[in-house]
Amino acid sequence: MRWSRFYIPTLKEAPADAEVVSHKLLTRAGMIRKLTSGIYTYMPLGLRSITKASAIVREEMDKAGANEVSMPMVQPADLWQESGRWDFYGKELLRLKDRHNRDYCLGPTHEEVITDLVRGEVRSYRQLPMNLYQIQTKFRDEVRPRFGLMRGREFIMKDAYSFDKDQDGLDESYKAMYAAYNAIFTRMGLQFRPVEADSGSIGGSFSHEFMVLAETGEDTIVVCDSCSYAANVERAEILCSGEECDALETPMEEVSTPNVRTIEEVSGFLNAPATAFIKTLLFDADGEPVAVLVRGDRELNDVKLKNLIQADTLEMATPEQVREWTGAPVGFAGPVKLNIKRIYADNELRFATDWIVGANKADAHLQHVCLKRDVELTGYADLRVITENDVCPKCGKEISLTKGIEVGHVFKLGTKYSESLGCTFLDENGKDKVMLMGCYGIGVSRVVASCIEQNHDENGICFPPPLAPFEALVVNLDIKSDEVNDKVDEIYTFLKEQGIDVLVDDRKERPGVKFKDADLIGIPMQIVVGGRGLKNGILEAKDRRTGEKSELPVEGFAEAFKEWKEKVYAGWNIG
Ligand code: ATP
Ligand code: MG
Repeated sequence: MRWSRFYIPTLKEAPADAEVVSHKLLTRAGMIRKLTSGIYTYMPLGLRSITKASAIVREEMDKAGANEVSMPMVQPADLWQESGRWDFYGKELLRLKDRHNRDYCLGPTHEEVITDLVRGEVRSYRQLPMNLYQIQTKFRDEVRPRFGLMRGREFIMKDAYSFDKDQDGLDESYKAMYAAYNAIFTRMGLQFRPVEADSGSIGGSFSHEFMVLAETGEDTIVVCDSCSYAANVERAEILCSGEECDALETPMEEVSTPNVRTIEEVSGFLNAPATAFIKTLLFDADGEPVAVLVRGDRELNDVKLKNLIQADTLEMATPEQVREWTGAPVGFAGPVKLNIKRIYADNELRFATDWIVGANKADAHLQHVCLKRDVELTGYADLRVITENDVCPKCGKEISLTKGIEVGHVFKLGTKYSESLGCTFLDENGKDKVMLMGCYGIGVSRVVASCIEQNHDENGICFPPPLAPFEALVVNLDIKSDEVNDKVDEIYTFLKEQGIDVLVDDRKERPGVKFKDADLIGIPMQIVVGGRGLKNGILEAKDRRTGEKSELPVEGFAEAFKEWKEKVYAGWNIG
């Protein structure tokens, strides 16, 4: 491929709205162009990377026994009503009407469509197991689509769905997908980690997310330094033990705290550490009030809360609701004589007493509070966010927190959709049974973005060879010289024969521009052909990742190149 015929509109400046590195570099490297918020055109170079990612996904899915299909993107509302998700799925679901005023949506995911398909096709246990997948554009009307391909509204996903006759079958299907995902991300040359993830109302360890490790990741993951435990913080359980503190002699007492509301303010005012306080957080859960108590210095994990109370929607109480439920303005809520049916406390509050809490009264707090003595709790539960000072819930040793980007998700759905949509089969005894399902997603376009988040430097992208739009770039420094042009052609042909994807920079540009662009677009192997080098019998080769330059002799180029290539590839962890 010749650069002069291949459209790569590189830019000096990143777009003003780009916050993350991948968004900046994808745009500057001419790989994507924005149409409108969260919606992009994949330009020739960008599409090549996406195509390479898709090809790896496809090969491994096929190897794992899944069959590729392509389902419609426009989905009728009645299927979503049947599954119960039409009302429940939030504003991410883009809803539309056709000319007959019938409701549709743009597919954010395809559980309904695939379940409808399979219930119409599969009759007998003999047709199971079945695993169908597609690589296709999804639409989710994300609230903050500000990260380029990382969080688009339109994006490419591989989604697979497995159907089994029993739990053992589902376990097998899940294991096969888990293994395929490991193979996929290893082949892509990414540093990643599968972590235990939240399974929502289904519960149990039925879900893993595949995280690309990058400082810019939106997810925080907990990794044990001693055992194999790794989990999304949303899910990470907290071990908590000690002696229960259920008595307190000092009587409860009201203190005046005029105009101090936050824990920080009250703590300064009363000269007590944040750990002496209980924060009372109020929520509207499916229209009903819920109160949650955590220690003053802690953060509530709302995913844990949502799972505990099995809520479909969970919103922080509005200032009006706070006033209505507590009789006080925001900042003074407390659990004592709180007229709310459900009050949950975080586990660790069990192991201490003598708390300071809000008094449900403007400008007042209560001190010397004992939960057992003074509060009617619904119960204790693991409700806070894990911190680096907590220990591994599996082995009790030290943990660390790192950042990750979710590129894949494997999930045991069980009968969630097959039940509501009536996806059944006849078992060995001719009995009607509901199928067990799993779903498995990979954000193909996000993979390319996260690969850049993980692999870049101040000059541009450093693509791992498997995801690079081209593996080698041959830079022609003198397009007016026949000798140079002939050499470039010769090398191009040689590399092609080696099965290497090559781009030749044959543009009428200054060497400086060519070198800058070469680093920006991040092709892993750069080979420079110029008049002076040829005179000395050498070609300069640069490993984009390390920046290391090597001189390859013109005589015996083939052997020298192969050796050099091996070295470049060995620097990547491609399994
Ligand atoms: P997130 O938590 O990042 O919003 P999700 O858990 O909602 O993602 P899934 O429903 O698990 O996403 O979708 C499967 C995969 O699709 C994700 O693992 C992710 O890689 C990708 N993905 C999801 N939303 C987007 C998006 N808005 N843009 C690009 N890729 C996405
Ligand atoms: Mg997910």
